[in-house]
Amino acid sequence: MILTADERALIEAARKVRLHAYAPYSNYAVGAAVRTSDGRIFVGCNVENASYGLTVCAERVAVFSAVAAGAHEVVAVAICTPDGGAPCGACRQVLMEFTPAPDACIIWVVRPDELVARYTLAELLPHAFRIAAAEGR
Ligand code: ZN
Repeated sequence: MILTADERALIEAARKVRLHAYAPYSNYAVGAAVRTSDGRIFVGCNVENASYGLTVCAERVAVFSAVAAGAHEVVAVAICTPDGGAPCGACRQVLMEFTPAPDACIIWVVRPDELVARYTLAELLPHAFRIAAAEGR
């Protein structure tokens, strides 16, 4: 598969930020990068906690960083996991909240050394729950 420079940059950002994951309990380091409609890239890594329920996934850290910077439209995502694991259900729902077009929001799933899969958000979360407010964004 031939990737564009933008796609390569997004995937590389996910691989790079994965090195900052705080995952002493699961040892499952994840990096995520989201591209927003204004062209910026925001990154996140998973951050675990001794109280396991407080753990936050890399994808949500990246999306929340984008929102904190005023960017509310995610148009592409790259996720780097040790084994090519896809985003969890909670992260799929959060991504759905902040994408203008789930059919066009590309999700790249990669391992540190290999491209694993390319999905759309609509494929990963069919029949998603969306409210009118989110649709109008
Ligand atoms: Zn998740």
